[in-house]
Amino acid sequence: MVSWDAYLYICCRRLMEFPIEKRKYGLSQSNLTTDYTGLLPKRVERVVKAENSAALQRIVREANESGQQISVAGLQHSQGGHTYYEDGVVLDMRTFNDVINIDEQAKTIRIEAGATWEDVQEEVLPYGLALKVAQSQSIFTIGGSLSVNAHGRDIRFGPMAGTVKELTLLTPTGEIKTVTRDNSASWMKYVLGGYGLFGVILDATLELTENDVYTIHTEELKTEDYESYFSNLLDNENTVMHYARVSVAPSSFLDEMYVIDYAETGNQDNETPLKGEQGVRLSKFALDIGRTGGILEDLFWETQKRYINSIDGNSITRNNAMRSESTFMEFTKPGKVEVLQEFFVPLNSYEEYIGDLKQLLPRDDKDDDFKIHNITLRYAAEDLTQV
Ligand SMILES: Cc1cc2nc3c(=O)[nH]c(=O)nc-3n(C[C@H](O)[C@H](O)[C@H](O)COP(=O)(O)OP(=O)(O)OC[C@H]3O[C@@H](n4cnc5c(N)ncnc54)[C@H](O)[C@@H]3O)c2cc1C
Repeated sequence: MVSWDAYLYICCRRLMEFPIEKRKYGLSQSNLTTDYTGLLPKRVERVVKAENSAALQRIVREANESGQQISVAGLQHSQGGHTYYEDGVVLDMRTFNDVINIDEQAKTIRIEAGATWEDVQEEVLPYGLALKVAQSQSIFTIGGSLSVNAHGRDIRFGPMAGTVKELTLLTPTGEIKTVTRDNSASWMKYVLGGYGLFGVILDATLELTENDVYTIHTEELKTEDYESYFSNLLDNENTVMHYARVSVAPSSFLDEMYVIDYAETGNQDNETPLKGEQGVRLSKFALDIGRTGGILEDLFWETQKRYINSIDGNSITRNNAMRSESTFMEFTKPGKVEVLQEFFVPLNSYEEYIGDLKQLLPRDDKDDDFKIHNITLRYAAEDLTQV
């Protein structure tokens, strides 16, 4: 008979052997170009690494003369294969990643569009500064994020567009333009959230804020209580960041949820280092169990709740709250794809929306081809500045 210790040892060994998958799709797939999902690859004419703005300007002008189409790639996390043109030119912006200037007094950073939020965080941390708005992961480029007008966990600042002071833009006709809120509001209005259709963002000047320290509050709720919970939270100015997860496990399907709030402590921090990826193997192992569905998805949900409960009362810096782990989510099973989709629902229709989902989605999708693995809720204030 195998002893408990031996059993535990075997489990730990198995976990250490558990592979950490890396994405396989992207610009380097011969001359087929696709995004993170690998859906709808396009045969492009060429992929050009952005070296400097003059070279990009030349490519845009030449393309105009020959009638060729251009698309722009950051880190290619946009999903659905809609970004690239058949026989077109793809501008790979990842090499365009220098920090141009940090103004500590004005709390701004000017940075090239192919840099990532990770790059920004590394630069601003020593000044005790942090981003106003970024996605919950820091893996995306500035250009790619501004072009979708991304939102994050902060419930006090609206989407990202509101934090942009200035842009340098390469227009579709090949001009390089400085775009500010004062002198050319119409460009700003289209470019931020414009999916690269209104020009190439070369660099952006972004507003920053303090690297505040927050206390984490977590709580389990019934989905029917969320609307009033969140309305109260919005009135409570002490809470600055928030997100929630709804159960997709069969035994609590769309009934249970948990919330995670970040409340001001009044303290700031420029010493706590930026956190790296932690517990990748364990999280990936747990997520893969959840992906199986059925009773194992119930187990995954219970494990998530336990973990979330265990972080109640912890402290975290703003920078670290904006750089959640992402490697554990990588999914590269041949013939299958995982897609993240966003739906914007007015707060006062949330309950009705969940009710409709209950009618539409199967409680247990274990044997279905189409499965739902996760529902995360965020708040994005309405953005009246963008088209
Ligand atoms: C795991 C995960 C978590 C996510 N979380 C969030 C979240 O919390 N909030 C949120 O809002 N979104 C979220 N997203 C979506 C994400 O914000 C977008 O997919 C974002 O565009 C990714 O940036 P990227 O650098 O990969 O952009 P890409 O996919 O490379 O590009 C996005 C779009 O911008 C255009 N573009 C890229 N660079 C430029 C440029 N320099 N100039 C002009 N146009 C350009 C591209 O042509 C494309 O249309 C998430 C996505 C994933 C996969």
